[in-house]
Parts: sequence; C-alpha cells; structure tokens
Amino acid sequence: MRQSTYLAPTLRDIPSDAEVKSHQLMLRAGLIRQSTSGVYSFLPLGFKVLQKVEALIREEMNAAGAQEMFMPSIQPAELWQESGRWEAYGPELMRLKDRHEREFALGPTHEEVITSIVRDDIRSYKKLPMTLYQIQTKFRDERRPRFGVLRGREFLMKDAYSFDTDFEGLDESYQKMYDAYTKVFSRCALNFRAVVADSGAMGGKDTHEFMVLSNIGEDTIAYSDESDFAANIEIAPVKVQYEKPDEAPAELETVSTPGQKTIEDVAAYLDTDHTRCIKSMLFIVDEEPVLVLVRGDHEVNDVKIKHYFDAVQAELATEEETKQWLKAESGYLGPVEADKQVKIIADTAVEAMVNAVCGANEKDKHLKNVNPGRDFKAEAYTDLRNIQEGDPSPDGKGTIKFKEGIEVGHVFKLGTRYSEALGATFLDAQGKSKPMVMGSYGIGVSRTVAAIIEEHHDEDGIVWPLSVAPFHVHLVPVNIKQDAQRELADLLYDKLQSKRYDVLYDDRPERPGVKFKDADLFGLPLRITVGKKADEGIVEVKIRKTGDVLEVHTDELLETIE
Ligand code: ATP
Ligand code: MG
Ligand code: MG
Ligand code: MG
Repeated sequence: MRQSTYLAPTLRDIPSDAEVKSHQLMLRAGLIRQSTSGVYSFLPLGFKVLQKVEALIREEMNAAGAQEMFMPSIQPAELWQESGRWEAYGPELMRLKDRHEREFALGPTHEEVITSIVRDDIRSYKKLPMTLYQIQTKFRDERRPRFGVLRGREFLMKDAYSFDTDFEGLDESYQKMYDAYTKVFSRCALNFRAVVADSGAMGGKDTHEFMVLSNIGEDTIAYSDESDFAANIEIAPVKVQYEKPDEAPAELETVSTPGQKTIEDVAAYLDTDHTRCIKSMLFIVDEEPVLVLVRGDHEVNDVKIKHYFDAVQAELATEEETKQWLKAESGYLGPVEADKQVKIIADTAVEAMVNAVCGANEKDKHLKNVNPGRDFKAEAYTDLRNIQEGDPSPDGKGTIKFKEGIEVGHVFKLGTRYSEALGATFLDAQGKSKPMVMGSYGIGVSRTVAAIIEEHHDEDGIVWPLSVAPFHVHLVPVNIKQDAQRELADLLYDKLQSKRYDVLYDDRPERPGVKFKDADLFGLPLRITVGKKADEGIVEVKIRKTGDVLEVHTDELLETIE
C-alpha cells in the first residue's frame, strides 16, 4: 500500500477527550474516527487490524467445529417478548419502529434469533451437538460509552451458540469454546486470565470471562496465587468446589416434608422429582433475601449425589418475582413457598445450605443436615462482593489479591433458559421431546483491538504484535525525490509483496522527521529505511519492539526472506 494515497491521518497532539492510551493511539494513528458518542468508523489501517483479529478468531472457531453464519441486526420485538427480555434488557436495548409502528430491536446479542432458527430447523438429536457463530455488529445503548472502542454503543462481536442434547454435552461444547478462546487471546499476544464470572439474575451456571490484565480495566478480579481461584468481584455467587472426603458417607436422617414451610424442616420446599430435584429456599442473610436453588441428579443410597447450589442474591423481592424467575430458570411451574419471615443466621448462602435440608430420591422426603463436602462432592456458591485484599481465598488456599481486567470474552452455560422460552425442542433416541441445552460465547472483536494496543505500546506509539499487525513492514525511503532511494524502495516494495509480505510504502514527499514519527506511531513490526546508502544497496532494518537497528544489504535481506 502506497502511503501517499492511503487514508491514515495522524495527529501529533493527544486528543483531549481520550483518557486511555489505546483510545489516544487509535485516534492519533488514524485507526478510528468518532461519528457520535460510542460510535466509530474504522479507517483503513484500523480496519486491517480488525480483520486480522477476525481472521484469527475465525480460524479457531472453525478448528473447534463451529459453523459460521450471519444473522440480522434488526430483530422483531415479538422474539424478545417471547424470551421475556423485551422488558428485562432495559434501556441498553436500542429500540425502533418501522413505518407500520411495528417494534424492533437492534441486536445487542442473538440468543433469541439463533434459538428461533434452530427451533424451526432442527428436530432430531441426530443433528446435535451443533455450534453456530457469526462476526457481526452489535448495538447497546451503554449508559457510559467511553475509552473509544473499548466501550462503544455500536461494536463488533463474535458470538457463538451451542446446542446439545444434555448437560454433559454442554460441558463439552463449553470446554471447546473455552479452549478456542484461550488460543485466540494467546495468539493476540494478550496477558489474560479466565475468571469465574457473574451469572447474573439467571442463577449460578458455569460462566467465565476472559480478562486482559490492565490498570484501566473496568472489572476487578480477585485471585489467589496459591490456587486456580480467580473471579470477578462483581459477582454475587461464586462457585466453590467441595471435594468429597474418602471417609464413609455420614448417616443422613431422612425426614418427611410434605408442604413443610418452616426453616427447621424445609425453608421453602418446591418439588421432588425422582431424578431431578429442584427446590428453592428463600433465606434472609444479612438482612437481605437470598434465594438458594438446589438441583441435580441424586441417588441417595450409594450417595452418588451431585447437586448444584445456586445462591441468588435476590433482587427478587416479591414472591411473584421469585415465581417468575424460577419458572424461567427451571421450568418449574408449581407454587413457591417463599417465606420472607424466615431468618437464618449465616454469613453466606453456603453456610445457610450446610445447615439446610436436601432432597432425597423419594417423594416428600428430605435428608437432614446434608453437608456439602462431607456427604457428597458439590459445587456451591458464595458471595464475593465484600471480599478484600488479604482475605482468605474462598477455596481455602492462600489469600486474595486484586487486579483490574478488561473483559474481552465471555463464555456462558445457558442451559434451557432460551430453548424452553422459545420452544426449541428435539426428539431424543426414544422419540421423546426435550429442550435443547444451550451455551453462548462472545468475543468483543473491536474491544480486543483496543486491548492489544493497551498492552502493546510505548511513548512513541503502537507496537503491534506480528500476528495482528496491519502490515508486516513499513518501507520508508528518507527522500523519495532521490532517484537511488526511490528506485531501491520501489524494488523492495515489489519483491517483498511478491513474497506475501504486507508492506506499507511511505512514498510521501515528507520530511524524514515526520515520516519516522508516523512510522513509530503506526508501530509496524519491521521498518526498512532506505537512505543515503541506497546507491550501495544498503538499507536499515529497525525492529519496532526492541528498537534494534541493523544495516543490511538488499541482496542479503531478500535472501533471508526467501
Ligand atoms: P461489559 O461487562 O464490559 O459491559 P458485557 O458483559 O455486557 O460487557 P457480553 O454480553 O458478555 O458483554 O458480550 C460479549 C463480549 O462483547 C464482551 O466480553 C466484550 O468483549 C464485548 N462487549 C460488550 N459490550 C461491549 C461494548 N459496549 N463495546 C465493545 N465491546 C463490548
Ligand atoms: Mg455490558
Ligand atoms: Mg461483563
Ligand atoms: Mg459479559
């Protein structure tokens, strides 16, 4: 690419409205221009990087067996009403009306659309599992758009959705995406960490955020050096693994609990299905209501119980809200015995659970004093919001440290939340209709570009990692009007391109100082300067990252890149 006619306008001064380095550099190096608050154009140089990151994501998604497709941004309100998110999503959802007064949303995410497609076109278990993805513009009317493309109102996302026949399948699909994300962010040369994330008001299913460690990150990660524990502190419930000790199972007392309402027996007892126990208890913990959901398959006699405890800090103040939440979350339709008068003295919902009553595999029977960790292997949730640096890690290993992070990716086990709401069912091998088990997986593509710059820059400009650099080589003749320099530069330009190097050729009749400053700002991995020794065939090669400079003969240079 010849720079003389390339749209890459650079700015000498730091734009006053850009607070963080990546935003400043993206403006100064002419990668982006703002259109309106939180809305940006990518100019050619910025767009090249975006495409490099996209290509890398595409490679890893395809390698993981995901299929690329493309969905519309304009989504009918009816779909969002079916899922219940037309109301729940709130003001972040950009809404519009057509000429017939029909309502639409500009997609902030695509669970509804993909689920409706799969609902209509997949009927049999034989087609599953399946993971679909797209790379597409998303719209969110962020309350505080800032830091350039790090938090935009229109931005590019890769979103993927997995469909499985059961939860074991979901675990596998999830792991594949988790591994693919690890590869993507490693290839982007990012210093990142996958952390346990907030599962929101939807209960405590597995979810991880991929966080780039950075001082300007808007999230705080609590982690322990002594273990794998790392979690976003914004989360109310965080999962803690309880290992089952080797000793014999404790004697558990079975109690009869038809319609019990008091905390001494069962706080709020909902349902005992023989294979899948779903109950909830509403506790008052620290003056606040906490809903604890207990579910999972269990066999009591040989104590092969796997339960999941989801403690939800209840914004679900009323019984009606609790019912609705439960219905959406578990498909449970029965009565909720939520007794807000119930008090339990416990610091965390986990402690509350320890003293609680657990489902038995017999109708109207429960086990008393079940102790996760003592009686079975369990995953429980504890509250992190008040955690401080220096506190013991919730897993008991080491102490807590804090770090800031930029969320570049997010993987989420959705379960049957959307397939049930939208009726995406399949027929299993026995011909029985079941809801598909889903996962959703996002990468902020434009945000990732900014995060890379945030990590890879110095006082002179961007320092692109080779894997995502817009061009490999910046070819800079010091004086383009000088015949020997121009001729040698022209020759190198052709030769390098014929070897598939992406070359930006600074053929502008600018002063050397201007050219070098721009070159440092652009931050291409290699700069080849053609100067005074051009008539001897000698050029200067500078490695942007290290600043190392070496003089080489063009013949030698062309040989090494053969
Ligand atoms: P955040 O917590 O930063 O608001 P989110 O949790 O709302 O992000 P997700 O719904 O998990 O975002 O979307 C998947 C990915 O899309 C995020 O991990 C992030 O990389 C990216 N993303 C989300 N919101 C924005 C935004 N406003 N601008 C740019 N990228 C975004
Ligand atoms: Mg958000
Ligand atoms: Mg988030
Ligand atoms: Mg997220």
